[in-house]
Formats: sequence, C-alpha cells, structure tokens
Amino acid sequence: MSEFSFLEQVNASFDRGAAYTDHDRRLLEQIKACNSVYYVSFPLRRDDGTIDVIQAWRAQHSQHKTPTKGGIRFSMAVNADEVMALAALMSYKNAIVDVPFGGAKGGIKIPRYDYSPEELERITRRYTFELVRKNFIGPGVDVPAPDYGSTQREMAWIADTFASLRPEELNTLACVTGKPVSQGGVRGRKEATGRGIFYAIREVCDVSEDMQSLGLSRGLEGKRVVVQGLGNVGYHAAKFIEEGGGVLVGLAEHEGAIHNPKGLDLEKVMTWRRETKSILGFPGATDLAQSGDALTLPCDILIPAALEGVLTAGNASAVQAKIVAEGANGPATAEADGILRNRGVRVIPDMFINAGGVTVSYFEWLKNLSHVRFGRIEKRFEEGAYTRLLGAIESSTGKHFGESERQAIAHGASEEDLVNSGLEETMVSAYHEIREVQLQLGSAVDLRVAAFVLAIDKIAVSYMELGIFP
Ligand code: NAD
Repeated sequence: MSEFSFLEQVNASFDRGAAYTDHDRRLLEQIKACNSVYYVSFPLRRDDGTIDVIQAWRAQHSQHKTPTKGGIRFSMAVNADEVMALAALMSYKNAIVDVPFGGAKGGIKIPRYDYSPEELERITRRYTFELVRKNFIGPGVDVPAPDYGSTQREMAWIADTFASLRPEELNTLACVTGKPVSQGGVRGRKEATGRGIFYAIREVCDVSEDMQSLGLSRGLEGKRVVVQGLGNVGYHAAKFIEEGGGVLVGLAEHEGAIHNPKGLDLEKVMTWRRETKSILGFPGATDLAQSGDALTLPCDILIPAALEGVLTAGNASAVQAKIVAEGANGPATAEADGILRNRGVRVIPDMFINAGGVTVSYFEWLKNLSHVRFGRIEKRFEEGAYTRLLGAIESSTGKHFGESERQAIAHGASEEDLVNSGLEETMVSAYHEIREVQLQLGSAVDLRVAAFVLAIDKIAVSYMELGIFP
C-alpha cells in the first residue's frame, strides 16, 4: 500500500512531467483537474428477493475533446478517488495515442462474481439509465467501454438500454465500445489491449541501444516473461507475446502463481484452470502460494495486468525484471516507481502501453458513426486489382505464383486486418514519440515523465487554440 491515494499518485506523476514544460500554471491546473464526477446509488432486487444498495460513479476528467471516453469497472475496490485517477489517466492516454477523446472512467462497487447474470444485467441497465438521465453517456458526450470486471456482454446491455431510451437517435450504437461484433462491435477489439502491449514490447525490445544498456539482447525472441492477471488484458498480452517468441516463465492469478523457467504453455494453463478452477498444480510447474510472489520471479519482462498498487515499496527492490510493462492501470505505487527508476528498470507506463484498447475503441466508434464495416467497400476491388497485377507480372516474366503465394499477395484487407494494422501503427509510432521526448529531455528522465510531457503538450494545444489560456 502507498501512503498516497491513487489520484494523488497520478497527479504527482503529472507534476513531475509538468515541471519539464513551460505552460502557464493555470493551464496546467485546468489540465490536471477532474471536470465532473457523478455519484449515484440505487437499489437492486436480488434473485432471492432481498435488496442490495449499489453505489456507482462516472468521472469525466477532461472535455478538451469530446466525447469523453473510458471503461467501466465492476469491483469492490471502486471509489471516487479510483475513478477520478483512472479518468485522468484516460485523458493522458487518449492524447498520447492521438485519439480525439477526453478522459473518463466509470465504476460500480459490487462483488461481481457473487451476482448472477440476471442481477448483473439489472445493475448494468439501471446504471446506464442513471447515466442517460444526467447526460453522462452518448455518442458525442461520453462513451464507456469494458474494464476490470466487465466484458462485451455488459457493453451490449448498455447499448441496448441507451437505444431503447433514445429511439430517435441514429448513432446509438456509438454510445459504448467493446460490444460483441454482432451488436455493432469491431473485430479485434476484445484482444486489442493485449495485442497493443505485444506490439509495444516488441518495439521496445527492438531498439538495440536501449537493450544494450539494460544488458539484454535485441528482440523479443527468448525473453523470459511473467504476467500477473489472466483476464482480458493479461491473457491476450501473454498469448501474443508467446506467439511472438517470448517465453512465459511465470503466470499469476488471484488464487496463486506458477513458475517454470523452461516456459509455460498458455493454452494448456488456461485449460487446466478451467478444469480445476485454479492455475495451481499445473503439471511441470512450481506453485507459488502467494500470487504476488510472481512479481519478483527471475525474468526479463514483467507485465502486471490485474490491478493497481501491486508493486510497492515492499517488493519493488526485489523485482528482477529489466523491463516492467504496465498492462494494468497504476500497478506501481509512486514509491515503487521511484525504486524501479533508481534501479534502472525500464518501466513502460500504463498510459501508453495499455492504450491499444482505447485505440481500437476509437475505430469501433468510427465504424458505428459511419454505419459500415471497415473493408466492406474496397476489399473485393483490392483483390481484383492485385490479381490483375499478378497476372501482368506472370505474363511479362514467365514466373507462375503458387496458390498460397497468390493468396498472400492478392488479399484485400478485411476489417480485422485494418484494425490490427491501425493498432500496430499507433503503438509503434507512439512509443517512438515518447522515446524521442525522453532523449530530448536527457538521461535523468524516465519514460513516464516523457509520456506526461507529450500528453500535457498535446492537451495544452487544444486549450490554447481556444484562446482561453496564453
Ligand atoms: P479482467 O477483469 O478481464 O481481468 C483481471 C484479471 O486479474 C482477472 O482474471 C482476475 O482474476 C485477476 N486478478 C485479480 N486479482 C489478482 C491478483 N491479486 N493477482 C493476480 N491476478 C489477479 O480485467 P482487464 O480488463 O484485463 O483489466 C486489467 C487491468 O487492465 C485493469 O487495471 C484495467 O484498468 C486495465 N485496462 C484494461 C483495458 C481493457 O481493454 N479491458 C484497457 C486498458 C487497461
């Protein structure tokens, strides 16, 4: 635990970044402030007829661009401070990956796994109703998405509730992202945050001089990786990293952690967990009774992808990874962050590395506003053009392409191809933008400060162009 609240820690990181900018003090104050927070409580009739009183929040941190955007968390740890901290991180994250949204976050304080699907549906629909009543949701106002404890299913309920309350609106599907594809979602959204983490880590490992200064070889191939949390973010990050040549030596869930220096097969671990209800006891692996012990396993890359505040003053000095990729939001307390920084660990900050989700949410929102699937119009045309080109090459050179070669070249881009390529481009270019800022500011500056400087500069431009601040 930290002596500072989550919001205080985000604001302290903001201040560290702000110190490297020369913006007007009042402008910095405006960027940092959370513009509005809505708190609501409502009764839930449980399946057994008893009543629970539910507390929920939605924080809109910044409207320098609208709509505001950010997930909805279903967890007992939710409170106003957490929601405001996460909303602030969303503003900075959106700026870093150039998606034209302000930041927001919602939270419903419930022990999610104690409720039946019917109860969760009643909670989600009532929460949406309350947001509609206060104009805290809408395609141009505020657009939620999944976060810890919520999934595609809840997003479908939100879209359906919103549509039934606003039948005259044309763009109702764009009121929420992370929906199932059959309900207006976009292909690739579910895995986007994890896939984005993979693209970012691959890029981090590809910069020779950075790897050299960490004492690591270039490239992801063979790097030993530990992942904490096998939910949406952690599972997909682990999956793509494994496919990309990384070796998963440690995996942690809330019931405990497992370790095998030779590598763990992710799909086999997931099957084991489904069958036995635990990752513990996985054949060939060593059990760690405390899930948190995974954070200090010998490895090259550590990916905390469960919840905030897991790296603390108590365990940061024992972290053996040279690279910490913050899959979760705020996994390192301010104290832990300082310790890791002083020890020369390369911390890839949350507000960049887990931005793949919001990036693809942006694509989903665009799809919903345009009412057409990406690739629908051009796919067949592209295939025809490539096929004609291949035919021309064959007749002029005499070379004949085999069927698989032909299919690989003359392949028009599908929705998934386009989404993944947009995500890859975003993660790779954002990493180099942050790294450039870091290089300009000098060796004392870490990537988190560089990311804040970049975000602050981008948000500041929006305010300055309005002529409000000098
Ligand atoms: P999720 O609910 O799908 O998964 C979280 C997982 O962590 C669960 O499997 C849970 O059992 C596990 N867990 C809980 N406590 C644990 C512990 N002490 N040790 C190990 N595992 C534990 O949530 P998610 O969507 O994957 O979100 C995880 C984090 O990533 C959150 O901080 C969230 O804000 C952040 N994030 C999510 C997205 C997204 O698109 N879903 C995007 C950006 C950031």
